[in-house]
Amino acid sequence: MDASNGAATDPGQAGMVIVGGGLAGMKAIEELRSQQYDGPITLVADEEHLPYERPVLSKGYLLGSESRDSAFTHDQQWYADNRVELVLGDRAVAVDRPGHKITTRSGREVSYAKLLLATGSQPRNLRLDGADAENVYTLRNVEDADKIDAAITGLAEAGRPMVIIGGGWIGLEVASAARQRNVEVTVLEALEKPLLTVLGPQVAQVFADLHTERGVRLVTGAEVSGIETDSGRATAVTTADGQRYDAGAVIIGIGAAPRTSLAADAGLDVDHGVLTDASLRTSDPDVFAAGDIAEVDHPLLGRRVRVEHWAWANDTGPVAARAMLGQDARIDFLPFFFTDQYDLGMEYIGYLPPGSQPEVDLRGDVAGRTFRAYWIVDGAVVAGMHVNDWDNGIDPIKEIVLSRDPAKIN
Ligand SMILES: Cc1cc2nc3c(=O)[nH]c(=O)nc-3n(C[C@H](O)[C@H](O)[C@H](O)COP(=O)(O)OP(=O)(O)OC[C@H]3O[C@@H](n4cnc5c(N)ncnc54)[C@H](O)[C@@H]3O)c2cc1C
Repeated sequence: MDASNGAATDPGQAGMVIVGGGLAGMKAIEELRSQQYDGPITLVADEEHLPYERPVLSKGYLLGSESRDSAFTHDQQWYADNRVELVLGDRAVAVDRPGHKITTRSGREVSYAKLLLATGSQPRNLRLDGADAENVYTLRNVEDADKIDAAITGLAEAGRPMVIIGGGWIGLEVASAARQRNVEVTVLEALEKPLLTVLGPQVAQVFADLHTERGVRLVTGAEVSGIETDSGRATAVTTADGQRYDAGAVIIGIGAAPRTSLAADAGLDVDHGVLTDASLRTSDPDVFAAGDIAEVDHPLLGRRVRVEHWAWANDTGPVAARAMLGQDARIDFLPFFFTDQYDLGMEYIGYLPPGSQPEVDLRGDVAGRTFRAYWIVDGAVVAGMHVNDWDNGIDPIKEIVLSRDPAKIN
């Protein structure tokens, strides 16, 4: 793909520069133009692709029900029509804050009036021999999804098993897709249940049961000790208790880490993520951060939060864009996320502080997997979710979480 779409911009005029071609960056661009910003916009993205949305990669795309193209919200023409200069396949490697410019790996310099960092996350990897074998995969981008899709096809044809290390969202979604394509799947989860720290024991059990009923071998309390290889290919995963799990392919799904090094190297305040105020402004008033990397002083939650979910990128990008334009834009929404696994669809809203010991209030048919759940900490509803309750959806749950009042639970 061309490194530039040739959008006409005055090279002397510093405009809005967005680093990172994911959802947050793309939504910021949309918002800049819809707010009638008429100056230059440059997108610097290290992937070769136009910006795209990732959720489909672990769901419909692996199932074969949705195309790769469905991940791409806008085509090349849209960027041209909106006069966005695209610098694709090139990585921003330095931010010169006093000089108001960034430098890319290829040596290009791009001046900015305001800069948005939306560099997202990268998968964590295992520091184990064998983790770099050719049939060991992580899942973050379209190339990863292509490889896993091909691996599932190969495993199904050869009758070989997949081992998934980590029973988090990505691991379980890949397990769901692989099982539905008739691949034998083992999930090795370190804790007593998958998703335990996010959902707590009762709701985590719903996901454990869902997967075991669909034929997943779910091994909990598993401490992975090695990946055996033969001629550069993984053949098995071993655990500290001496078990050996035969593997034709291995997926490592042990979480993601925010890509904060560009911000940190530029001297911006960084903790777990890039620190911002409620307007997504970093410690430099001309530099903003959105999506997975932003650690935001959240006005509704009264604490700093960093969220690695689709809706957060979708909603923080536009807030950052309006703040870049000098508007009084602030976050006024709660974290929200969703998953789809087999015939289970789930939506969750709110924020459960790490380490809290919530009471969980379950309503509906938990065994039948159509229910709502609310997390209550110190007498306040802090989060709620529904599973397959599409008649009501997430809106009434959101109202209850915003009110924080357990008496409103119905
Ligand atoms: C497979 C998968 C499935 C998911 N499913 C769900 C789901 O079901 N529900 C949900 O709520 N969330 C889901 N998520 C999470 C959601 O996709 C992310 O939270 C979202 O993509 C974050 O958007 P972002 O724009 O912050 O970052 P990203 O989408 O990660 O985009 C950041 C981009 O910046 C680029 N970049 C990084 N550094 C530089 C640099 N220095 N210079 C230039 N470019 C750079 C990266 O290559 C990347 O293209 C899923 C994620 C994955 C990977």
